[in-house]
Amino acid sequence: MQSKRARLDRFLSERLLVKRSDVRLLLAQGRVKVDHQCASSITHLVDEYSHVQFDDQVLQAKTPSYIMLHKPQAVVSATKDVKHRTVIDLLPAPWPDNLHIVGRLDFNSTGLILLTNDGRWSRRLTMPESAIKKRYLVRLDKPVTSTVIDAFAQGLYFSFEDITTRPVSTSVINSHYVEVVLEEGRYHQIKRMFGHFQIKVLSLHRFAVGKLLLDDSLPEGQSRKLTDQEVMDIFN
Ligand code: URA
Repeated sequence: MQSKRARLDRFLSERLLVKRSDVRLLLAQGRVKVDHQCASSITHLVDEYSHVQFDDQVLQAKTPSYIMLHKPQAVVSATKDVKHRTVIDLLPAPWPDNLHIVGRLDFNSTGLILLTNDGRWSRRLTMPESAIKKRYLVRLDKPVTSTVIDAFAQGLYFSFEDITTRPVSTSVINSHYVEVVLEEGRYHQIKRMFGHFQIKVLSLHRFAVGKLLLDDSLPEGQSRKLTDQEVMDIFN
């Protein structure tokens, strides 16, 4: 999802119905505030969540929403589905407008799902450069071997997309149960990686995204808003 950004002179000339060339004067007079600070540059970029004020008039004050949800099995990571319950159906109404999902889980996977209407935040979370770690507990039908773990650490070639996965770290909990850490989110990535070695994934649970942990305080099917601190700290 793209969040719309505009130069401050364009934004103000459209909202106040003044010429763009007059905006410079309004800024020089100290009559415009962006995010509660006096704005001085006409090229300053504002987006849909910037708080913009002209004298005492608030021109825009929209609050973004950030939600974490504990997804149960048999729920679709989508906002609409004709056959099955979706993660949106699990939110208590009324839910905020224009929510989208940040990083899907498969129908039978469980765990941490993030929803937001802030496209900048979700893009930052999913862009490869951010390398946000997603942690999964995975139960397997066969014992995992060091060959598998080494291959994951090297990266596996996916011919369909013609890419090699980023190095994946795998910690063995017991022979059939591992923790896997991904820095990307390819389609069915974990199942396909184990499938390459004829190992079937029996269950898959995401328990962390970046610094944000899903613990016992949020039962399956429940959701809650993230705190401002969590919204920022997730990137650390
Ligand atoms: N990898 C998968 O195969 N499935 C998921 O739901 C998440 C990661």
